Amino acid sequence: MNDYSGMSKAELIERLQSLEQSTTHTHQVELRDNEERMRAILQTAVEGIITIDERATVELINPAAEKLFGYSASEVIGQNVSMLMPSPYREEHDTYMHNYSSTGHPKIIGIGREVVGQRKDGSVFPMDLAVSEVRLANKRLFTGFVRDITERKRAEAQLADLAQTLAEKNKELETIVYVASHDLRSPLVNIQGFSKELARACDKVRATLESSNDPKVSKPEIKLILEEDVPEAISFIQAGVTKIDALLAGFLRFSRLGRAAIKIERLDMNAMLQSIAKAMEFQVKQAGATLKIDSLPECMGDSTQVNQVFTNLLENSLKYRDPQRAGLIEVSGQIEDSHSVYTVRDNGIGIAPEHQVKVFEIFHRLNPNASEGEGLGLTIAQRILERQHGKIWIESKIGVGSSFFVSLPSTTNLRNKR
Ligand code: ADP
Repeated sequence: MNDYSGMSKAELIERLQSLEQSTTHTHQVELRDNEERMRAILQTAVEGIITIDERATVELINPAAEKLFGYSASEVIGQNVSMLMPSPYREEHDTYMHNYSSTGHPKIIGIGREVVGQRKDGSVFPMDLAVSEVRLANKRLFTGFVRDITERKRAEAQLADLAQTLAEKNKELETIVYVASHDLRSPLVNIQGFSKELARACDKVRATLESSNDPKVSKPEIKLILEEDVPEAISFIQAGVTKIDALLAGFLRFSRLGRAAIKIERLDMNAMLQSIAKAMEFQVKQAGATLKIDSLPECMGDSTQVNQVFTNLLENSLKYRDPQRAGLIEVSGQIEDSHSVYTVRDNGIGIAPEHQVKVFEIFHRLNPNASEGEGLGLTIAQRILERQHGKIWIESKIGVGSSFFVSLPSTTNLRNKR
């Protein structure tokens, strides 16, 4: 502690003055330090920074903003900031500043948005602008942070273009599939017809041969051709034709899905599953299986198509049941966030992990000879749900069973909107 008791008044005053001087000096050093720091930040900032006063006069512009707009600081400082904007924003800016002063309602301050800037050479560019307000003792300042987003905008436009091209290509492809499957089916009908005709002709030749008495005809040899070779060939042709016909019909069904008009409405899933169960009662009984249906939440979807999805899932649960145990199929559902999620669980043969994605591919079947089917049901289900903002996925274990999950938009969003 300093001892001032022995000091005269004059000494005390002198001491006080020197103290005051040193405090002022410390303050000045601190202030200079702060200013230096601020300047360094402004000079090196990647973002453009411009400060204006209440009358929109530029007080400060950092090098990044000088570069962005192509002006030097001396050309901008003291000018109205609207010189950095193209028409009509230039003209509107004063009104905007005035409105803000009188109403206090900001449009950009504290929010930030995309605007258009104008360079010294007259060219314009999109930029992100964020403005903050600083209230000093005797005035208000506004600091704008600007960033050129030309590249981002270009990338966004490119992405939108690509999405549009993709949608068009997709449509084109669907049309090709549709036309191809449609047109390819008519020659098939001919092949099918003529192979039958051929079979009938063979029968006739055989009958004629049998009644012929000409010794030059080698009856056993011709008989072998007619009774084995030709029928075998014809049966292969016919099996091939039937297969191609089924595949084309599948393609056609699949491509029609993309064109089918859908009507999204509130779906009473309890009623829908009960009616599907009723229609399948005989099949379930014949399979010796049990079908249990829980209370299900409503959802939004196209009634016919959603019915098709669940019918297919239930049919699959019956088709791919494990002969080792009595079939048990359970349907349940719950609301999760904005979607109703339904589960069709079976205790069937299960699907190996490596096939759990592939079963959704068109015509993909794990064991084609074990059961009837064209490998299209799950592909169609996935397509239907995609178009209705839904999803389908699997959890399955070989030898234990499979759970198929279907999610569709729930009706709760609808209720909130009302
Ligand atoms: P399909 O039943 O006509 O073959 P899907 O597209 O409905 O066509 O099913 C594709 C394949 O997925 C089936 O061939 C079968 O191998 C497998 N699969 C579908 N559902 C089940 C299930 N519940 N349990 C086991 N495997 C299944």
